[in-house]
Amino acid sequence: MTTLYDVARIAGVSTATVSHVINKRRSISASSDETTRTMLRMVRAAQPISRADLARRLEVHRSTITEMVKPLLASGLLREAAPEQMRARVGRPPIGLSLRGESTFFIGVNIGVRRSQVGAALVDGEMLGEESFDTPSDSDIALSHVRASVERLRASMPDRTISAIGVSVPGPTDAERTRLLFAPHLGWRDVAVAAALRITDPSRARTFRHEVPVIVENDATAAAMYERRRRLCNNTNAELGDFVLVRAGTGIGVGLVIGGDVYRGTGSEGGLLGEFGHMTIVAGGKSCACGNRGCWERYASASSAATLYAGERRHGGSGSRLRFVDIVARAEAGETRAQATLERIGDYLGIGIGNIISGLGIARIVVSGRIVFGWKFIKKPLHQAVARTMVGRLATWSIESGEPTGAGLGGALEVVIEQYLATMVAQARSIA
Ligand SMILES: [Zn+2]
Repeated sequence: MTTLYDVARIAGVSTATVSHVINKRRSISASSDETTRTMLRMVRAAQPISRADLARRLEVHRSTITEMVKPLLASGLLREAAPEQMRARVGRPPIGLSLRGESTFFIGVNIGVRRSQVGAALVDGEMLGEESFDTPSDSDIALSHVRASVERLRASMPDRTISAIGVSVPGPTDAERTRLLFAPHLGWRDVAVAAALRITDPSRARTFRHEVPVIVENDATAAAMYERRRRLCNNTNAELGDFVLVRAGTGIGVGLVIGGDVYRGTGSEGGLLGEFGHMTIVAGGKSCACGNRGCWERYASASSAATLYAGERRHGGSGSRLRFVDIVARAEAGETRAQATLERIGDYLGIGIGNIISGLGIARIVVSGRIVFGWKFIKKPLHQAVARTMVGRLATWSIESGEPTGAGLGGALEVVIEQYLATMVAQARSIA
């Protein structure tokens, strides 16, 4: 949940302005608010895009686009011009809408269990720079590495200012999205991530001691936002509806997109949503880093494949375990044992996904993360496992593969840019 203070801090305006905006927004219908957010996502994905094209993709009247675009053009968030590549064509050039933002950039931080990345990007997603390092086992050291990377990226772009920082973390966050509550695979508990990365920028607007806002998000939720953007970039239709993102790598995380928006739950426990990776699927089963036994991710994650392949006798002991991609390579080379391992993983993945579909009633699943490298072998047993469930027989469902990598850093950037756009929309409304 974002507080009034957060919104004010990000926008660089007073809390009174934000209150005013919220009160004003109450008089505007919810659908128009949602449509504006969807429209901006569409502009980002397809810019420069004409008003006519936007209206068609969003399935709204052109006058609605005009109404939505007007305050955003006035506030400077959007620009409308004939882009260079269109000017070259013969005849009257079409006019395209695009987001402005050359003077600022966003920082995305992906804290992974094994590797971490820090990247800088423009509002349209264009990457300006990126660094990565092995994630130190100590959270303080890890965050000081991140901080140093952020400072280096900032120093390399002296003519631009940091708008905000988004951090993707491998575990649940608090509802305010400032702290990582627990990262089982790193053994980190209650880490004040936002506070550790708080930096000031003297050139930043006005209030709140020039602090650059930091938003900390669960990696599966961030990956779901990344997948939504990827789908918008690839599709001509803006309608994304509901889907569940299952991200399987070292562990398993689940993100929910409902009505095109990510769902974080309600109330103070909001950040604990989607921890399906730690639902028990085997009573008294393998012990898990979370402290319980028989968790789904111990049977269906990419890293669980290595222990399954090696045989349980070697579990816990060795540093010579195969990487997931090595098992996939052996399976592709025709090794029966590797193929059987991946099929087994697919079956377990399907059992868990069947549970999710049964429980949530959302029948569109996107699987992302390293597990996707083995999709060729996993796909069939996964589908068979879902087809065996009651809901699998009664309902129409689909399971697609998403990105194997890239959702970590991409997701972190998506989190921060989404927040920025929401803030800018609120600001534009307050002026209009
Ligand atoms: Zn667990």
